[in-house]
Amino acid sequence: MWESDKEDLFDSPVPTRNKGPRSVTGELTADDLDVERSLRPRTLDDYCGQERVRENLRVLIQAARDRGEPLDHVIFSGPPGLGKTTLAGVVANEMGAKLHTTSGPAIERTGDLAAILTNLEEGDVLFVDEIHRLNHQVEEVLYPAMEDFFLDIVIGKGPAARSIRLDVPRFTLIGATTRTGLLTGPLRDRFGISYRLDYYTDAELSRIVMRSASILGVVIDTQAAAEIASRSRGTPRLANRLLKRVRDYAQVRANGDITWEIAAEALSFFEIDELGLDWMDIKILSVLAKTFRGRPVGLTTIASAVGEDPSTLEDVYEPYLLQRGLITRTPQGRQAMPAAFEHLGMPLPPQK
Ligand code: ADP
Repeated sequence: MWESDKEDLFDSPVPTRNKGPRSVTGELTADDLDVERSLRPRTLDDYCGQERVRENLRVLIQAARDRGEPLDHVIFSGPPGLGKTTLAGVVANEMGAKLHTTSGPAIERTGDLAAILTNLEEGDVLFVDEIHRLNHQVEEVLYPAMEDFFLDIVIGKGPAARSIRLDVPRFTLIGATTRTGLLTGPLRDRFGISYRLDYYTDAELSRIVMRSASILGVVIDTQAAAEIASRSRGTPRLANRLLKRVRDYAQVRANGDITWEIAAEALSFFEIDELGLDWMDIKILSVLAKTFRGRPVGLTTIASAVGEDPSTLEDVYEPYLLQRGLITRTPQGRQAMPAAFEHLGMPLPPQK
């Protein structure tokens, strides 16, 4: 954590320390790729947490299977690293269907979409990550494919152009987005099933850490798993990433087993804040608590003060700070809560 200025806590500048890529981001990094595949749960029973979503899906999958039909189209929303891609794989596996994976920005032209859809087989699952980033023309072609399983595509240009209609096998589209609000209305309306994933509790993350440790063949005790869980920002991807860092530390500085002492030592060695906050979170809190002394501040003002895009602030940083009760959203703007002052080691501003 950054050192507060004891002389004048309110007038000292906000921290400008910028450590490059975030170590606590929920977004996928190259480092995650090697083990992520092996750690991904494959069945609903293996998938920890998100009870309501899990039980709901269990019923819907069973019903679709009993009728011998593909599952209705599904949209998962929530911050990165909470298990949207994993759930798409679980759904395909539980349906006994083949999974095809792509992402919104990867489908650049309508022809790309046509190629993907016409290669599907009856009952297949098509997972489109970042579906809110599909371009407008591609989205228009997708609507009839989702609703009535056909494609209208235009071949050629100018007077020679003609439209052809292609049938598409009945498939299930699973979309993932960081916020359903980013989807256009017509696209959102075409998903029969919509779930928002929430941050995981520390107990759920502890279970995920124990499970991952056993897959990786690492000995870990429950207290150590709880320590890692509590610093993982409610995000399984981060829990797995921290587990790997702690495993490295345990291997080099101890006998490889992860006890609570080793976990705590490793986490402080890697400068993982006790709430899992990084320099950007601290910078946001500092702007609210120090620069604006706990007064409400508009999103764009915070964004320019910390040098980040307003929508990234809203999608990636803010949800966790809100969930931890460090900030609140009022009609006048975002405000630092007493917990933020406490975390920064600052006194509360005087009440007017
Ligand atoms: P998203 O698509 O939401 O960004 P992912 O599905 O890629 O997130 O999940 C990131 C990693 O976290 C996965 O590799 C998986 O190992 C782990 N994970 C996610 N959700 C769970 C869960 N419910 N139980 C166990 N591990 C999970």
